[in-house]
Amino acid sequence: MREHAQRLSGLGTTIFAEMSALAVATDSVNLGQGFPDTDGPASLLEDAIAAIQAGANQYPPGRGIPALRQAIADHQQRFYGLTYDPDTEVLVTTGATEAVAAALLAYVEPGDEVIALEPYYDSYAAGIAFAGGRRVPVTLRAPDFRLDLDELRAAVTPRTKVLLINSPHNPTGTVLTDDELRGISAVAIEHDLVVITDEVYEHLVYDGRRHKPLASYDGMAERTISISSAGKTFSVTGWKIGWVTGTPAAVTAVMTAKQFLTFTSGAPFQPAVAKALALGNDYYDSLRLDLQSRRDLLCDGLEALGFGVHRPQATYFVTTDIRPLGHTDGVDFCRMLPERTGVVAIPHQVFYDNTTFGRPLVRWAFCKQPHVLQEALNRLTKL
Ligand code: PMP
Ligand code: GLN
Repeated sequence: MREHAQRLSGLGTTIFAEMSALAVATDSVNLGQGFPDTDGPASLLEDAIAAIQAGANQYPPGRGIPALRQAIADHQQRFYGLTYDPDTEVLVTTGATEAVAAALLAYVEPGDEVIALEPYYDSYAAGIAFAGGRRVPVTLRAPDFRLDLDELRAAVTPRTKVLLINSPHNPTGTVLTDDELRGISAVAIEHDLVVITDEVYEHLVYDGRRHKPLASYDGMAERTISISSAGKTFSVTGWKIGWVTGTPAAVTAVMTAKQFLTFTSGAPFQPAVAKALALGNDYYDSLRLDLQSRRDLLCDGLEALGFGVHRPQATYFVTTDIRPLGHTDGVDFCRMLPERTGVVAIPHQVFYDNTTFGRPLVRWAFCKQPHVLQEALNRLTKL
């Protein structure tokens, strides 16, 4: 067999697969890969079972079933006052991952530059590489992980085509502020850029904050491809039901790429997610408050152990600085941790081009049951 294509170079195995395998091999508590250890709402699970039994087992339509596209449009209206036509401005995808990849394939020409917030979610680098684009990072730096708008402006060149934004942000847990979102909008409008915004953690925002979608800013609806997913909102990361909202032209472009990646998926999950999106505010509130208290449990515990803790504003993840414990390199630390303590975490470094910024940082997932978090903290005293 000859060598694989150049576009795969440097991609290797995802850190999440590597660390989850290590967790199993060492019987560790897995605070690495971000997935909940309890199922989503019972009604959602029952609706999916009922859909299988009722025969929703063949290819759904390419854009997604009408009920789900309508529910996504209703959700955007209900939470953000954004109006989308479910027939032309909504597309169901195989998770947010496919949506991001298809959006990049749809808009990036070989040689185009894509500005992405760094640290960036790992599939972004692969998606940009597959499209033949060039990744240009703008770094969110510890301790507060704010976006430096001057740096963003300086990163734009005549080759810049796309801004790839993620807020609430994985892995830092940052929620971009109103000023930051306005600044991004100004840059996008001035340079006529396409904005792809990954908002999968839109409902996991803490301490009374609210997520505000980039598409809701003046002049942005017509240039923004918004992406979200059921995985986090309904604790069903394995279902891979995601979606895109945008202009009819943008949604058609993303669909043109998407239809030759998977065509469609998730037939019985689509009607179930459609119903779940309409759950009352009590569901969304309790999801948020429950995760907020888990965040506090893990953050307080890590602080007591001596880590430098960056308490996140959102998401499933807390970032820590390992230097107060005498360690300097997050990759070495995370490779040592399972054997030594029986806990798995993720080194930030893998999410950076400028690896020095991420070197002392380690990410821990708190989307686990309180007794699991407590067990991890107990084990970490071995440090
Ligand atoms: N974007 C971000 C920022 C994520 O953290 C994740 C995953 N957990 C995804 C996208 C992927 O979402 P999905 O599982 O719906 O493909
Ligand atoms: N998004 C999850 C995380 O950041 C992992 C998803 C995956 O394994 N690709 O941990």
